Amino acid sequence: MLQSKEVKEMILEIANMIVDAEDELSRLDAVIGDGDHGISMKRGALKGIETLNEMNDDEPINEYFKNYGWTLIRVMGGAMGPLVGIIFTEFGKACKDKKSFGTEEFVAGVTGSTMKVQEFGGAKVGDKTMVDAMVPTMEASEAALQLGDSFNVVLDKAYSAALQGVENTIELQAKKGRSMWLKEKSIGHPDAGATSYSKLIGKL
Ligand code: ADP
Ligand code: MG
Repeated sequence: MLQSKEVKEMILEIANMIVDAEDELSRLDAVIGDGDHGISMKRGALKGIETLNEMNDDEPINEYFKNYGWTLIRVMGGAMGPLVGIIFTEFGKACKDKKSFGTEEFVAGVTGSTMKVQEFGGAKVGDKTMVDAMVPTMEASEAALQLGDSFNVVLDKAYSAALQGVENTIELQAKKGRSMWLKEKSIGHPDAGATSYSKLIGKL
């Protein structure tokens, strides 16, 4: 269970990790996209860090997620910008009026963001996008919640499922986003957005 200040620190850690992963993410996108994924993720993260640093350490926890998410939506370009922002705004909704961040809030955030990203972006499992990492993560998280697993076990299972989801994208042909134009040439490489999502889940 994380309290207000720890939630702020966790989101800052996610943002710093994204900044550090710029090259790796852009390289993945360069193979089957236009190579800007790391750049736009970093642009969002740097502005998001500024946003969080302007906030106190004892704000309601949903406000950190909400403000970070809206910053990403504002400053990130590309297909991914609004979709990554939505992940955080949905975590914000899941934490509304909550005093701490634990299993229940995590699973509600994962489920809310997975639904909203599919609704907003129109991609389904098998299209070779971030959704291929999100849906297995949601299923594993919900199953772990049902089993009554501890928060750490829920997070571990979620991360394993996200990594497996990224693995699954390797053999897929892209049906959404820029990679779609490569047709069968998109097969054999992991999806950049799915990779970003797995990294994010790994930091929660
Ligand atoms: P752009 O494609 O505009 O250059 P990025 O390079 O930042 O944007 O992001 C590319 C990633 O966006 C892809 O790897 C894929 O995971 C994700 N993506 C693209 N379209 C969708 C969609 N409709 N739904 C979910 N994710 C998507
Ligand atoms: Mg791109």
